[in-house]
Amino acid sequence: MYSLALIHGRAYINQAWVQTNIYIQNEKIVNISNELFPADEVIDLNGLEVLPGIIDPHVHFELDLGWIKSVDNFYSGSVAAIFGGVTTFVDFLEPVDTVEGLEKAFLSRMSLAKKSIADYHFHATIKNPKCNLEDFVVKMKSLGMHTLKLFTTYSESNRRTDEKDIIELLKLSKKHHFLIMAHIENDDLIKIDPTYTFKELTLSRQTIAETTEALKLAKFVSDTKGNLYMVHLSSGHTLVGLIDQYKDMINKNFFIESCPQYFTFTKEKLQTEKGYLYTFAPPLRSLREKELLFKNASYVYTIGTDHCAFMEKDKKKKYLEDIPLGIGGIEHSLSMMRHYLGDQAIDKMTLNVAHTQGLPNKGRIEVGYDADFAIFRPMPNEKVYGNHGTCDYSLYEGLHGSGKVVSTIVRGKFVLKNGELLGGEGKWIEGSEFHV
Ligand SMILES: [Zn+2]
Repeated sequence: MYSLALIHGRAYINQAWVQTNIYIQNEKIVNISNELFPADEVIDLNGLEVLPGIIDPHVHFELDLGWIKSVDNFYSGSVAAIFGGVTTFVDFLEPVDTVEGLEKAFLSRMSLAKKSIADYHFHATIKNPKCNLEDFVVKMKSLGMHTLKLFTTYSESNRRTDEKDIIELLKLSKKHHFLIMAHIENDDLIKIDPTYTFKELTLSRQTIAETTEALKLAKFVSDTKGNLYMVHLSSGHTLVGLIDQYKDMINKNFFIESCPQYFTFTKEKLQTEKGYLYTFAPPLRSLREKELLFKNASYVYTIGTDHCAFMEKDKKKKYLEDIPLGIGGIEHSLSMMRHYLGDQAIDKMTLNVAHTQGLPNKGRIEVGYDADFAIFRPMPNEKVYGNHGTCDYSLYEGLHGSGKVVSTIVRGKFVLKNGELLGGEGKWIEGSEFHV
């Protein structure tokens, strides 16, 4: 006897829509069939869409910047996630520069994440390393993580990893089968000026800083045959540059993530009265760059939200250096990205993420996989609504979306059912090695 049957749904299986019934037992998908079988709980979906649970590879809950913390903790952030059909998210460990620091950072994040109602995983994060890099990598892998975040910028807060260490880490990524997640901006081209207001954010972090650094790192990847994942690509120019010069590597060992905000807004927003609400790094780009991003969206492998929310009062500051950079977005990313990219968005938010993040039982509707689902009602002419995180504003509410997540199922349990939050218990998902 099955524990749960989802019948008469329209399921997204191997890039196609299939009218079928899905049977679940012990947290797993155990049967997909046109036949009807009995189950403890039978839910008639009446033609609603059944998507694999969305996996967000890039969130910052309870991010401590030293002077301010992002406002969604692992509970409220996971609630917003669940309303967005996100069944698993990947957050980041605090950046560390030693092997001992890595284990401490892992344990402290694990204890914070216990309150999550969605499943979770972490990226290890390194800053200006002061240790043997191979020891660091071996420790990271022993803790169940196979993705390592580094920064090419933020030298002012001592987070930058220098180029010889990046090359060394790329060589290690090949040897030890892991993926380097890189925040890519050319540190020398970032202009920090205490007189800048939010209106100068694009001047402070220009496109050329992203493009030149991305091409340099692509060259390192090409030489070392390492594995790299570029987080939050913001500019169509960067994307076109990478395609022109490194097409063969893209999404084979140089992966590209972008975010809903770069598909939605342009830098003119920063010049408006409430421009401070649109502050994040890398910043918004020109309309031309957004158009190029759309045109080449097939080269974007994953969508992550970079969800890092702050209250309006904390963003509403005159000077740029007083504004915490980051916005929320996890609740509406699926609706927005499907509006922009149609069904093409789904793999970028499910199986491609599972592949790069080493989550082998997630991201597909297939027998043996975790029973994680987003049940979606297409509403192509409606605006997105709802704001279930902590933050007091959402940049996406009121914009044109593609529909609404009505129910979210994590490992066979309804955490959201017909719009009602039932709650649940997320768990740490151990990662597996990265293989091309
Ligand atoms: Zn981020």
